[in-house]
This record gives sequence, C-alpha cells and structure tokens, in this order.
Amino acid sequence: AKAAGKNTFLFYNSDMDSTGVDRLQLETDLRRALERNELLFHYQPQVDTRTGTIIGIEALLRWQHPEKGMIPPFKFIPVAEELGLISELGTWGLREACRQMVEFRKEGLSLDKVAVNVSALQFTTQFCATVKNILEETGLPASALELELTESIMMEDSHSTVRALQELKAMGLRLSIDDFGTGYSSLSYLSRFPLDELKIDRSFVIDFDKSDNDASLVVAIIAMGRSMKLELVAEGVETHEQFHFLTEHGAEVIQGYLFSKPVTADELRPLLVPGYFL
Ligand code: C2E
Ligand code: CA
Ligand code: CA
Ligand code: CA
Repeated sequence: AKAAGKNTFLFYNSDMDSTGVDRLQLETDLRRALERNELLFHYQPQVDTRTGTIIGIEALLRWQHPEKGMIPPFKFIPVAEELGLISELGTWGLREACRQMVEFRKEGLSLDKVAVNVSALQFTTQFCATVKNILEETGLPASALELELTESIMMEDSHSTVRALQELKAMGLRLSIDDFGTGYSSLSYLSRFPLDELKIDRSFVIDFDKSDNDASLVVAIIAMGRSMKLELVAEGVETHEQFHFLTEHGAEVIQGYLFSKPVTADELRPLLVPGYFL
C-alpha cells in the first residue's frame, strides 16, 4: 500500500481518520476559515478559591463552520499542525486574545491575565518577535499574557529553546507548563526553564477520588510544584470532592466545569467581578 504514495495518503486522510472528519474537506475549509473570520475563542475562568475571584482565563479555540457548526479544537488543530498552518493560526490566536484582554481592561473588568495555548510546532525562531509585535500592536502589558507550553517544547532541550523562553520571560510574560506529567519527558526541565506555573492535567484530577494511586500522584505534584515556587492550577475540576481535595492539599487555583465551562466573551463579562464565586 505504501507504494501507492500520495494517493494512499489522501485515501487515508479522507476515509480513515479517527475523528470521523473528512480531512480533505477540512483542509480546504481550514485555509478559508482564517480568511473568513470563522475562528473564535471561548474563555474558561481560572478561579482563586481563596477569594472566589477569576484571576485568569484560558483562551480555547473554536471554529464556527458555516455548515458543520461549532468544531472543537481536537478536530482541527492536529490538521493545522500537519498542514503547516499552525503558526498562522497561532498568531491569529495570540492577537485575538490580547485584543480581547485589552477590551476587558478598558471596560474596567477585574482580570489579571489571559492564557494562550502554544503548539510545539508554533514555537519557531520567529515566535518571540511575533509575540513582541502583538503586544506592541495591541498595547497589552506583557505581564497580562501567559503562554501555556507543553512538555514537548521542554523536551526540545536545545540552546535555542532555553534562550527563547528566557527572552519571553525577560519581556515580562508568564510561562505555564500545560498537561504536566502526561508526556514522556524528564522532570529536569522544571529547574532549567524560567517557568511561573504548573497546570495539573485533567487526567490526574478526573479519577483520583476513585483511585488511591492517582490521589498520591496529585499530592506529589502539588508538593513538588510548591517546593519549586510554581503557581498551581488544577484543570478539569467538576466535583466538590475534587475541589476540596485539591484545595486542602494546596492547589488553590481551579479551572473546571464546577465553576464554569469555556464561555464567550459576552457570557464571561458578568463573572468578572471580585468575589463572584464566593
Ligand atoms: P487543554 O489545553 O488541556 O485545555 C483544557 C481542555 O479541557 C479544554 O478542552 C477544556 O474545555 C476542557 N475542560 C476544562 N475543564 C473541564 C472539566 O471540568 N471537564 C471536562 N470534561 N473538560 C474540561 P477544549 O477546549 O476542547 O480544548 C482541547 C485542547 O485543544 C486543549 O487542551 C489544547 O491542547 C487544544 N487547544 C485549544 N485551543 C488551542 C489554541 O488556541 N492553540 C493550540 N495550539 N491548542 C489549543
Ligand atoms: Ca491549556
Ligand atoms: Ca494543553
Ligand atoms: Ca490538559
């Protein structure tokens, strides 16, 4: 089958995709989506449970497709990565998140920062310059922008990765390590890179009330994060049991359906007042 070359690739993509989406159609549509403004963010609150206040939001990409409706990111971000469209898409996302954040701040809403997911493939030599330009263009202070980086970026243990992260840090951005513990990387990067925050992945949070092992793991991750002076955010918190366990063990910033699903900017506004979740 390999000998069929390009045709095999097309066949595979259009018929055998695990998400059940026709990839050829998706490719054509995705290229148009950027031009036609069909992408948007939903924002999910990160709540400081000590004050009941939203201190940050995570920008989560959505695609409002004219015929197919709202498409979730797992169906098109991997395709964008394969097609080499992820940098373009990522740049759009950074600009849009910064623009929205500036708007919220002008309205006097209480909100410290917006977090944007960064694909490892987007993390090129151009990346720092792009971020810098967008901050200048939109007028957002660097300290109000957080980048969520995955372990795959940290595994790229090259000099240029370290330099890029140091440059972003020097610009004043906040750096967060996303999906912590789900990759195959060593932990040594935690001390080598200038990180501010560690996100406890939903996969650890989800089952720990049913599994002693997962509970021990969550406790260990929190202890490690605290001893390394990293801020902790627990994601995917849905139940009061999870909430109590996490806060009792020292993870005080919570992101999850228990407080709010990702919502549109308009739906978010009324929640952006100090103590809303008290
Ligand atoms: P992620 O970075 O791990 O984001 C958290 C995901 O968990 C989001 O899914 C969010 O809606 C979901 N979530 C949060 N709280 C809960 C909860 O309590 N219960 C459940 N069941 N789910 C919860 P979403 O929005 O579908 O995004 C999926 C992934 O797509 C993200 O995972 C991220 O890896 C990627 N992604 C989203 N937006 C972007 C983007 O702008 N750029 C890049 N490169 N990746 C993005
Ligand atoms: Ca994330
Ligand atoms: Ca992630
Ligand atoms: Ca995650």
